[in-house]
Amino acid sequence: MDPYQYIKKEPYKMYIDGQWVASESKETFDIINPAVNEVFATAYKGSEKDAQKAILAARKAYDEGPWAGMTHHERSELLFKVRDLLAKRQEEFACIETLDCGKLYPSVLYYEIQQALDGFAYSAGNARHLEGKVVPVDGGGNNFNYVTWEPCGVVGEILPWNGPLMMGAQKISAILAAGNTVVVKPSSWASLSMLVIAEVFHEAGFPPGVFNVITGSGQVVGDALVKSPLVDMVSMTGGTETGEQIIRSSADTIKKIALELGGKSPHIIFDDVDLDDAAKWAVFGFTLNSGQVCVSGTRVIVHENIYEDLLARMKTVCENFVPGNGFDYEKGVNFSSLISKEHAETVRGFIESGIEDKARLVCGGTHFEGLEGQDNNFVPATIFADVTPDMKIFQEEIFGPVGCVTKFSTEEEAVKLANMTKFGLAGGVFTNSIARAHRVAGKIKAGQVYVNSYFSKGMMESPGTGWKQSGVGVAGIHKYMHSRTVFVSLEDHPQAPL
Ligand code: NAD
Repeated sequence: MDPYQYIKKEPYKMYIDGQWVASESKETFDIINPAVNEVFATAYKGSEKDAQKAILAARKAYDEGPWAGMTHHERSELLFKVRDLLAKRQEEFACIETLDCGKLYPSVLYYEIQQALDGFAYSAGNARHLEGKVVPVDGGGNNFNYVTWEPCGVVGEILPWNGPLMMGAQKISAILAAGNTVVVKPSSWASLSMLVIAEVFHEAGFPPGVFNVITGSGQVVGDALVKSPLVDMVSMTGGTETGEQIIRSSADTIKKIALELGGKSPHIIFDDVDLDDAAKWAVFGFTLNSGQVCVSGTRVIVHENIYEDLLARMKTVCENFVPGNGFDYEKGVNFSSLISKEHAETVRGFIESGIEDKARLVCGGTHFEGLEGQDNNFVPATIFADVTPDMKIFQEEIFGPVGCVTKFSTEEEAVKLANMTKFGLAGGVFTNSIARAHRVAGKIKAGQVYVNSYFSKGMMESPGTGWKQSGVGVAGIHKYMHSRTVFVSLEDHPQAPL
């Protein structure tokens, strides 16, 4: 299979108001495969003016177009069409995402694409289940309240680079199922799948302006979405610092905001577990997608009775990874690159800070042994032991394949360590005691907790809320909706209390 057969030679255009358009400036940016450091395509770089065009198109489509008058059934059918068309092109999309993000091809094809398809199916089905409720009110049958759920209007959806197709599909499908129109802004490091998915929306027959994609920098194009009075809601998935900027920039227009931000999630491992199972899950928890997963279990908190033994087993698991091009899976490649040179340097900087802070380096490090200078954007699976809460690598999100291991002796101490950062995205607990599993899961301050495995199952059905500085708003279709309560008096001449 030749993944490049799916790549265009000419710059990829943005999709605004049902048309493919170059940026006004005609400026382009490179699209790079980080696994081999190769520019394999280019795309037009949007400016503030281009963002305004997309916002106006989405506004017009929401206020005047046929979209608002469509039935829930019609919207659902359109989303099912997107699912079906995407399913027919899954190999192509898996190639595009693998090239653009340096991911492993099988994990894109068999996991991320399937999650994207499921996102469209789930939202399409739920587009017909956005019921409100009737509220019982005292008053001798003279009062009646009902609640309906309404779309927010124009939504700006700002995406990160670590799973643009999967996350984009989950969010965009929910936004559209709710009846909104959308302007999608993918990350400049991973824009391609969103630019190409516009073809799918076009073919499915979405009215112009309902779905728009603009590319460009967050500081310009993203900021234009956040500040525009014509945008009713901004949803952003990305780093906590970007979330802070968005909260500040949106202050003047007080719009609805949903933020899914960073994490530094604890994974507590008790001494009653099968050590080989626990070691594999612990390592999987911080190395999936080379650690570029928001909910990664990057702080492994281990009972003192199994501490050294578990570390040795985790080290063995880490040393079995084979880095390489994500298409070389048949040659045993099972470990992907980081998204860019800049990000690889950031991750290496964190590893250096762990070494400076005297955490014990168990395996890995800044470079693959013997490959210094030639390992490009690959950083080895790295384990630090004896990590303490005062260290930077305990507190800050690294977003690379780095596990920070800390010892505990009592359950109380484990919970305390788990909750000792500013984040509250996810957490895990590994134990054979049912009572302890539930007790500890109930004490981890995070929006999702995994027991005896790691990572979410049933993502669309299970809201993953970010607690503390990990986010604002609950996931799901209602996140993109407003409630309206109608208070009705049933009396012919209701008496005003005057
Ligand atoms: P990022 O914060 O650098 O960028 C996210 C998006 O915001 C990009 O599209 C970027 O262009 C845009 N942006 C940047 N500055 C902006 C501004 N001032 N105004 C508007 N938009 C702006 O994040 P990233 O590096 O792309 O992704 C990695 C981060 O995302 C990690 O912190 C990770 O934990 C987080 N993440 C969170 C979740 C979650 O569900 N909580 C999921 C995936 C990723």
